[in-house]
Order: sequence, then C-alpha cells, then structure tokens
Amino acid sequence: MRALSTSELLSVWERGQVQPRVQQALLLLAAACPEISTEALAKLSIGRRDTCLLALREWTFGSQLISLAACPHCGERLELAFKVADIRVNLPAEHVEVYSLNIDNYRVRFRLPNSLDLATLTSSTDTDAARQLLTERCLLSVEHNGEEQFAGQLPVELVAAVGQQMAQADPQADVQVALTCPVCSHTWQAAFDIVSFFWGEINAWAYHILREVHILASAYGWSEADILALSPSRRRFYLEMVGR
Ligand SMILES: [Zn+2]
Repeated sequence: MRALSTSELLSVWERGQVQPRVQQALLLLAAACPEISTEALAKLSIGRRDTCLLALREWTFGSQLISLAACPHCGERLELAFKVADIRVNLPAEHVEVYSLNIDNYRVRFRLPNSLDLATLTSSTDTDAARQLLTERCLLSVEHNGEEQFAGQLPVELVAAVGQQMAQADPQADVQVALTCPVCSHTWQAAFDIVSFFWGEINAWAYHILREVHILASAYGWSEADILALSPSRRRFYLEMVGR
C-alpha cells in the first residue's frame, strides 16, 4: 500500500462521487494497493479494510481528526478532536479465515463480514437488522448435537453471541468514541465511520483543488495535469502571486 498523488486522489473522487460508501472505500484501496486484486480487497474483513483506510487518511491529510457531533440530550454541537492513533486498534498478527463457537450443543463456524457482505445491505436497513443479516451471511456451518442445521433456524441468543465474537475478532470494524456534552454533562458513545469521514474530507478537498486549478489555469494558461503536479506549497505561492 502507498500514498496517493493529488491527481490519483482526484481521479478516485471523480469515479466514487455517485457510488455507495462501500464502493468508495474499495476505490480508495484499489488505487492505494495496486498489488492486491480487487476481489481480495473486497474480501478483507471490515476491520482490516478500515485499518488500511486509516493509514491512507493519515498519509493524505495527517494524523489529526476533527469531527462534529450533536448531543442527543440537549442538541449542543460538539467539535471533537482526536488522533488516528487514538482509534487505531492493534489487529491480531495471525490471519484467521474461519472462526468457531461452541455454545449449548451448537457448533457454529463463521467468517468475518467483508465489503461484499456490506454491499448487500440497503441504506434503509436499520442497525439491528443489518447486524443480523451480516451475521447470517457469514455463517459457514451450524451443527446442533452433531447434526447439520439450517442457519436460519438459529436461536436469537446464538446469533447475538456469534455477532459478539465477530466484533471481538475484528475490533477496528466498530470504533466507538466516548463523548461528554460540555453543556448538560450527558455522556454517550458515538460510532466513528472512517469511510464517511474520509470521503467527506476528500470531497471538500477536491472542490478546493479544482478551484485552485481553475484560478491558476486562467492566470497562467497551464494544463490541469501541470497544476496538479505542483507541490501544495508551490501552488500556494502561485496563488498568492495572482492575488488569491
Ligand atoms: Zn448536552
């Protein structure tokens, strides 16, 4: 995996604008990891995918993250500043393909959810239903008292236990940030989604860069490729020269 140049990132933004989040994440990874096949990237567990995206975010925009949240109790808007290192989880060194869980005479074998699984969810699926659907998709086999069983017949508690084990095995997939409201002192946990966050930043950055291209191309007649190839400090210098 490597950092992306200005024009590479702009090209990912252009192709990903109208895509769902899961595809935007894959476009970023495919550009940064040309040595890995698209299929292999899509099969990375969500936690491993997000570990790569956090690294790419750090190389692209630095280690500081600033996010906004609204207090669910009083509505106060909070600005939240933290570092990539604060939410980075150390992943287990060994890569496990198949996990198993034994509970109440059940033996369940499962894998971790990946981008292909996320792509099957629609935006209208609520969080609980999404978790259940993902868990069921990732079940490889279920035995009860030694007999093979249909995955759809699992008791609810068992599906929950499998979901819990998946979360433990892939901790980077669900990052929770602890928040305290400075106005009403309410405390709560908010999920941090690196894909939405990073893509939001890329979107704002792309508009900014294209505006700079427009100004410099108008002033000097340079091509877009030439302007994008300039370092940020040179671009800033020339923008100052033309009074912008
Ligand atoms: Zn509050």
